[in-house]
Amino acid sequence: MQREVNMKRLGIRRKALVTLLGVAVPSLIAFSMLIIVSTAHILQGNASRQVSSLAERSATGLAEMVGHSQTTLATMAASPEVGDYLEALGSVSQTRLAGSLRRLEGAFLGWQKLDATIQAIRLIDPAGNVLVKIKEGRLVPATGPERPPYSMPAVHSVAGRDFFQAALRLPRNGVLISNLERGKIEEEDALCPAMVRFATPLFGRDGVQRGVLVVNVWGEQAGRLINRLIAAEQGSAFLVERNPADNRRNGIYLFHRDGSCEFGDQTGSRRTIFDDYPPEITSAWLTSERGIASDPRSRDILAHAYYSPYGRQDRGWVVVVNARRDFFLGPLATIGRQTALWATLVLGLALAASLFFARSLTRPIQAVVEGIRRMGNNPAERIAEGSRDEVGFLAGEINRMADAIQQSAEERLRVEERIRGTEKLASIGEMAAGLAHELNTPLGNIKALAILARKGIERGECDRRSLTGDLDDIADQAGKCSGIIAGLLSFARRSGATPAPHDPAVIMGEALALVRLRAENRQVRLSCDDAPLPSLLIDGDQLRQVFVNILLNGIDAAPGGEVAVTLRQRDGGVQASFRDNGCGIAPEHLDRIFDPFFTTKEVGEGTGLGLSVSYGMINGMGGDIEVESRPGEGACFKVFIPGTREVGA
Ligand code: ADP
Repeated sequence: MQREVNMKRLGIRRKALVTLLGVAVPSLIAFSMLIIVSTAHILQGNASRQVSSLAERSATGLAEMVGHSQTTLATMAASPEVGDYLEALGSVSQTRLAGSLRRLEGAFLGWQKLDATIQAIRLIDPAGNVLVKIKEGRLVPATGPERPPYSMPAVHSVAGRDFFQAALRLPRNGVLISNLERGKIEEEDALCPAMVRFATPLFGRDGVQRGVLVVNVWGEQAGRLINRLIAAEQGSAFLVERNPADNRRNGIYLFHRDGSCEFGDQTGSRRTIFDDYPPEITSAWLTSERGIASDPRSRDILAHAYYSPYGRQDRGWVVVVNARRDFFLGPLATIGRQTALWATLVLGLALAASLFFARSLTRPIQAVVEGIRRMGNNPAERIAEGSRDEVGFLAGEINRMADAIQQSAEERLRVEERIRGTEKLASIGEMAAGLAHELNTPLGNIKALAILARKGIERGECDRRSLTGDLDDIADQAGKCSGIIAGLLSFARRSGATPAPHDPAVIMGEALALVRLRAENRQVRLSCDDAPLPSLLIDGDQLRQVFVNILLNGIDAAPGGEVAVTLRQRDGGVQASFRDNGCGIAPEHLDRIFDPFFTTKEVGEGTGLGLSVSYGMINGMGGDIEVESRPGEGACFKVFIPGTREVGA
């Protein structure tokens, strides 16, 4: 019993834990995942915007640099020194021209000092002669033979160079911007750092083409701008050329943190974006103004922005920022760790709370179960109604139910007691007829013997011997009568169960004797088959009454038939079987025949108490009554009386 109670308690705890694990754990995991996923989403969104804005801003920075160089060139072209040269070139005076060129040399040197981004400045006449050139802070002297139409040497000639020819074709104030590329150091294989050449045509007041002013600008500043966009550990940024018309240059890196891949067309490395990125990414870079994408291989964020110094869609520079996944997901690891920490904490608290809850739920239930167990042992016990919650309410209801059950049990006992008395009276009525018959014969004999004896005495015919014989017969008959009356008295004695050792076969014999007259009247054959039986510690009167009741029912049900009784030892006790071949019991009555007052007999013939009283008595002895019957084939009642019952039990 104790084990059972413990198992139930464990059951509730387990259920509480399973409920917790089944609800709280998945919810916590789902909640944590939700936080992490939405944080990742937010971080990625923020990073995308940030990276995209980096690319945009650096494209704007490039535009500003180019704009600055264009402004510088325009300012130079409009300077008094250049104006003086244009005038001097129109005049025929070589001296004036030479003076003007000297002034220009000074001005060029001054301008370069002012603007560190300028690599070189050149003044070229319409024939392609470089008349003045300063480079990297130094004047490049004009040496060699005189070059007609001047009586002085030129630095060198660029007459055949494409950029010069193109610059000559520009309108007034037009600016020609070259590719961003590395210059070739004259008479050396080495390439100088990247630069862009800005050229503008010069016109005299008369509108005549008088030359071209060229400024070379270092690209380093732009390179620094690109490289500083994003820290090395967070990703990389690079400048790419968009130039579909020129296969050699389309997609080359112009600036890159890894300098070895810059200007692949010039350095011979030939490395382009097509070597490093998938086509769907590179094609977006080479066609759209701006955009953001995710690298399908590394899931890095790739933002690009396009700027064209040439004012064209198909030729310009693309700033690309490649932000590493760690750059934006870095904080996610911290968030994940903290979420896991909190989730574990919450889970631990929930676990403790659920254990506490389970314990506080099971303890009062345990008390109720204990109380019910005590009530089972002692019906007067009641459960303590401690708490004011549902369990306390339940305990109260169980107590009230126990009160009601006890009351009804007491009531039932009283009713059964009454019924038993009534049935006993009824049985006595039945027996009275039998007794009358039994007593009638010996009493008749006594009367006849007494009359004969008196007549013999009156006539003087009676000798002493025959008188003694008659008196012996009378005493014998009177003895029979007193035996019958003693049996009746013991049967009718009203008392509680008084167990004593009894031989069930003897009691059965007495019961059969009591019903014999009735059996004869109904022409029912009675038989009894017994075997060696143990003595039983029982109330003999009660058992006899049970046997009489069942025998009378069998006799009533089988007029002209038979009632066969068998007595056998079973499980240390005794089983008495009463089999008749009477009308049998209808199936719908089988459940009801042990109910008090249930009878199928005519009014005045049956009370409906025999079986119910019998059942109560056998039950009181710790035994049982079973019945089997088929309508038309008779019935069989099996009464089992257990063997070892202590006196007073
Ligand atoms: P009563 O004999 O006064 O009717 P009982 O309680 O002794 O009351 O029996 C109840 C009913 O059970 C009977 O009326 C009868 O219908 C049925 N019964 C009992 N024993 C038998 C039997 N051997 N065969 C057929 N019916 C029986």
